[in-house]
Amino acid sequence: MDKKNEKPKLDQQFRDTVSTIDTDGKRVWINPLKPKGKLYNYRTWFSIFCLILLFGLPFVKHNGYPILLFNILERKFIVFGIVFWPQDFPIFGLAMLVFMVFIVLFTAIFGRLFCGWACPQTIFMEMVFRKIEYWIEGDMAYQKALNKMPWNAEKIRKKGLKFFIFFLISFLISNTFLAYIIGVDELYKIITEPLKDHIGEFTSLIVFTGVFFFVFSYLREQICIVVCPYGRMQGVLLDRNSIVVAYDYMRGEGRAKFKKNEVRSAGDCVDCNQCVRVCPTGIDIRNGTQLECINCTACIDACDHMMENVGLPTGLIRYTSENQIEKKLPFKVTSRIIGYSALLVVLLIGLIAALFLRSDVETTVLRTAGTLFQEQPNNHISNLYNFKILNKTFKEKNLTFKLETFDGTFKFIGDSNLTVKSQDLREGEFFLIVDKKNLKKRNTKIKIGVYEEGKKIETINTKFLGKTF
Ligand code: SF4
Ligand code: SF4
Repeated sequence: MDKKNEKPKLDQQFRDTVSTIDTDGKRVWINPLKPKGKLYNYRTWFSIFCLILLFGLPFVKHNGYPILLFNILERKFIVFGIVFWPQDFPIFGLAMLVFMVFIVLFTAIFGRLFCGWACPQTIFMEMVFRKIEYWIEGDMAYQKALNKMPWNAEKIRKKGLKFFIFFLISFLISNTFLAYIIGVDELYKIITEPLKDHIGEFTSLIVFTGVFFFVFSYLREQICIVVCPYGRMQGVLLDRNSIVVAYDYMRGEGRAKFKKNEVRSAGDCVDCNQCVRVCPTGIDIRNGTQLECINCTACIDACDHMMENVGLPTGLIRYTSENQIEKKLPFKVTSRIIGYSALLVVLLIGLIAALFLRSDVETTVLRTAGTLFQEQPNNHISNLYNFKILNKTFKEKNLTFKLETFDGTFKFIGDSNLTVKSQDLREGEFFLIVDKKNLKKRNTKIKIGVYEEGKKIETINTKFLGKTF
């Protein structure tokens, strides 16, 4: 093989260490160089768009209700105006499966594109908290100098201001987070009504604020390196065909410092270390794809800037695959991608069908436990039933029951009006009275139709108990 096309041997020693832990096992605090460049600007604009969505969506309502609500306390979820209840759990399970297969497929093709561009952790850390840190404490060198300083007036002022703003933003995130759970109207009540009426909610606000503050001021990149399960799964989700932020070692190796006016025979990497200095997880991308890399693209911008300065082509670090770098192979649709896509299509069809078949009203009718049947006048017989009607919609429902199998009379205990308020559960009992001549067996299967304004919306299958006559 031509020596130039041989895969260079990379130093593998980096595998023995973690970039954020020193040899004594202590945390190495990462103060990355402030990124700048084309991709960083694109990411900034995209982050602004994501933040507007995140903070704005709880205020968007449809028919007076939020379009997104994840009320885990009352087990009620609204997704784009559709209410989901615990009874819709199979749909929720299917949606989760679709989501997981989509993630697997997306990662197999695009690597950790989501982490770098759209993950809330990265957006808040790199585009909100880190920018504030640069604004107050300055760039990398100033931050390191400030950290080493004794606690003088300047350090107290800068650190105090930074953590105060961090706390305020954490409080804002916490409020938004709670707005997604209980809705903005409930949140407004917590803010405006006496504190003693909302002690529980206020405590959770403070706890969430503390968690966010701890995450963004202390844990930081450790969330991506240690905590995030998606990050941990990269080893199995990526392959040599996946598009990731990667260093072109075929072009760059034989790295050597740049010397002005020298005819360059070394690789294109000028060993400036800028890609390492901007990295928020402290890794050297020249060592290859690593679990710590969140594909934030800061190293692409840094390297492009350096290449432009020394007059070499940009793209030494870029979005590419291992196969493209080593074998110059274009992106290939592999059998793995086809398999995941086929599975995703099947699951999506199932999900769409389940959503279409999902009823607005869910009725349960069960024979009351411990009862048999009751003799009624005129050769009739009755069974006692319990019913539950869940109205999943935002409209009041006026319903009627009708026995579909043969003639029968419903005699409700208490209120016979089957009106169910919006998003409410109506429970009750009724006697179903039928003529004995219709009963051929001890247990007769019957169907009860649930009607709304004369239109059948649901059919309930249950049994009628009676002796053989
Ligand atoms: S290696 Fe590059 S893309 Fe990966 S986290 Fe570091 S700076 Fe971001
Ligand atoms: S920024 Fe580019 S040229 Fe500089 S060390 Fe990294 S890969 Fe090499």
